[in-house]
Amino acid sequence: MAILWEAGTQGLEVQPGAPGCVVLLAYFPAGPALEQQLDQALAVIPTARIEAVSVPEVDWVAQVRQGFRPARVGCFLIAAPWHLPLSREAGETLLLVEPGRAFGTGTHESTRLCLRFLQEIAAHGRPRWTLDVGTGSGILAIAAALLCAHPVVAVDNDPDAIEGARHQARLNQVDIRLLLGDGARALAASAFDLVLANLSAPLLLERRDELARPLAAGGALVLAGFLAADLAEVQAAFASLGPGRSRTDGEWAALLVRKAA
Ligand code: SAH
Repeated sequence: MAILWEAGTQGLEVQPGAPGCVVLLAYFPAGPALEQQLDQALAVIPTARIEAVSVPEVDWVAQVRQGFRPARVGCFLIAAPWHLPLSREAGETLLLVEPGRAFGTGTHESTRLCLRFLQEIAAHGRPRWTLDVGTGSGILAIAAALLCAHPVVAVDNDPDAIEGARHQARLNQVDIRLLLGDGARALAASAFDLVLANLSAPLLLERRDELARPLAAGGALVLAGFLAADLAEVQAAFASLGPGRSRTDGEWAALLVRKAA
């Protein structure tokens, strides 16, 4: 595997082979000298055999769109514009998404965990200012704007995500302040009643102070994007901020921390 990564593979899959064998599926951009180059690189493993298989060009965005179905997450009915009209139950909030390239169609466990926490928080008093760090498709920021009808600021360091989120906000007819930037560094201290951060365990741990700083006393911090196996570590890192409560969905976990007054 190390040799294949060094040779520039774009992805690797390990599959069981015949007894005593393993099949490594390594993806490469097609090139004239590829097989010869790999033959040379793998010469150190005399038993390795290379077989070239061509992979058809796939339009992943189209494929995701085709497989996308309306889904209910708590009080949210998540659907694409082409699913409309849809019948809604009382109290249900329609959240429109156009699955594109940015993360956040609402199908991932980490996004769903955040949406559930958001619903719960809003039920006890709608946050006046919400910050969404790592907004991706903008789904959490849009959900907060729909549910709370108060200002929402959303940050991402990926310009494509910002562009996508702008489009999705328009689709939902909500106004979100979108910022292209790194984490929460640029934001005013104690300015937000709710901070949402669906990132990753290492990033949440590294950015602990940065995520806590914009939060007002008594405000809620929702952390997600990590596995249940990492919950204890994330919980311990944020324990000094205030009392916390966790949720899990499959292998994934999320944590809600209230900043002590
Ligand atoms: N909030 C969405 C998307 C989460 S995916 C949801 O809940 O579904 C995480 C997003 O964080 C990605 O869009 C990624 O570009 C962004 N991100 C990662 N590191 C970041 C950083 N340092 N600063 C800002 N955004 C970041």
